[in-house]
Amino acid sequence: MSELGANGPIVVVGGGQAGSLLALYLAHQGHEVEVYESRPDLRRVDIDAGRSINLALATRGFVALGDVGLAETVDAITVPMAGRMVHADGEVTFQPYGLDSDDVIHSVSRSDLNAILLDAAEATGRVTTHFEHWCHRIDFDRMVLTFSPFGAIDDVTEVPFGTVFGCDGANSEIREDVLRANGGHRTIEPLDHGYKELTLPPSAGGGFRIDPHGLHIWPRGEFMLIALANPEGDFTVTLFMPNTGPDSFETLVDADAIEAFFTKWFPDFAPLVPDLAQQFLTNPTGSLATVRTTGWSVDDRALLVGDAAHAIVPFHGQGMNLAMESCRLLDRELRRSPDDIAAAFASFEANRKPDADAIADMALENYVEMRAGVIDPAYLLARELALELERRHPDRVAARYGMVMFTTMPYGAVKERAERQKEVYTALTTDITALDDVDFELAARLVDQLGPLPEWQ
Ligand SMILES: Cc1cc2nc3c(=O)[nH]c(=O)nc-3n(C[C@H](O)[C@H](O)[C@H](O)COP(=O)(O)OP(=O)(O)OC[C@H]3O[C@@H](n4cnc5c(N)ncnc54)[C@H](O)[C@@H]3O)c2cc1C
Repeated sequence: MSELGANGPIVVVGGGQAGSLLALYLAHQGHEVEVYESRPDLRRVDIDAGRSINLALATRGFVALGDVGLAETVDAITVPMAGRMVHADGEVTFQPYGLDSDDVIHSVSRSDLNAILLDAAEATGRVTTHFEHWCHRIDFDRMVLTFSPFGAIDDVTEVPFGTVFGCDGANSEIREDVLRANGGHRTIEPLDHGYKELTLPPSAGGGFRIDPHGLHIWPRGEFMLIALANPEGDFTVTLFMPNTGPDSFETLVDADAIEAFFTKWFPDFAPLVPDLAQQFLTNPTGSLATVRTTGWSVDDRALLVGDAAHAIVPFHGQGMNLAMESCRLLDRELRRSPDDIAAAFASFEANRKPDADAIADMALENYVEMRAGVIDPAYLLARELALELERRHPDRVAARYGMVMFTTMPYGAVKERAERQKEVYTALTTDITALDDVDFELAARLVDQLGPLPEWQ
């Protein structure tokens, strides 16, 4: 049994959302922390993150930010989005996310958020950051970490550690050393769809070209386009589509094909981006995968946190929220068992892994909902019914989307609850096409049998 820091320096590998937030939590507990990040300092060098420029921040992320005193600072740099703006059949339909005006998600710049977290961590005076330090090995026998400037594997620095937190993202290098040491395993489930980011520029006068207060979706069945506003007046637009087959990334290889594709499928969007084809050909095509890991820790010496432990596809806008909530729950475990870090780590994984697996599943399901469900009449009726039942029985019914995005209910409990609610919606909507035809007396009895909603954690 040992306290954190008793056996040597506390090192966090990776200065993304999980690493910088975790460092801040640990500093608030009174610990000295060394953060090593492979890339240059994004506050000083304009680096291409290589993936999403802005992210949807929801309640789970905000609760963690509130814990470390940053909720208001971050809120000030976000663009709130109150629902989906669905572009289909030449019309734009607004689908609010919930009944409550507080049910909004927030578009935030990945790099600006990261900069706020790093600044706050350093401002504690307990966190030291080291950039351009790529970790490629944990030596548990000698208790040293091996770093190089990225790609320069011969230029090696060794750093001693007592406990290392692996926050080095979905493609974590150090996960492999952790799993070798603890006999655990991981699965990587690649998605056969990829993504491409584009920028929809501000209007000539500097304003937004489309409404900024909704998450725009152009659902097209097998693929979709989404757009999230940035405070500067532009939108980050992402095309998600199959990697192969007709209407896939493999067919969009030249300007003619790209322009024809966008004009056919997204006629209200294409004219808003004059250099569409050029952007498409210049920007990388990203790949997506779900990573599930069993064996997150090595006694009190190492723990994987964030995407390194559990990476999910982005269709619920939850990967970062999940990572931030993981930091909050880990902080709680460490405060509960300050004298037995190994037990805190083991308990953290035992409690968190089922929830990480649950949101991984829900994120995959949400892709189908976003690209096809939002225009399916059966889905729309069930959604209308869910909102009506939520209005009538707020202590018994909550839409799955809302439970994921606007609560801290454990994801596993949300998934299980949503499946039971879905059975109720199906029973009530079979053979009907309009909300007026629903038998609300039967609904009241079925809803009552559901029992209370899961508690927040
Ligand atoms: C297209 C896309 C859209 C997304 N949209 C959303 C969204 O809307 N909402 C949401 O909640 N989530 C979203 N996500 C998920 C979100 O980006 C991640 O879940 C989140 O960034 C995880 O944070 P992290 O700190 O664990 O990992 P990362 O943010 O990946 O940070 C890992 C850090 O470690 C560094 N690093 C890597 N290897 C090493 C090494 N060997 N040594 C040292 N440093 C290293 C990296 O440079 C990086 O800074 C999206 C993801 C994608 C791909």
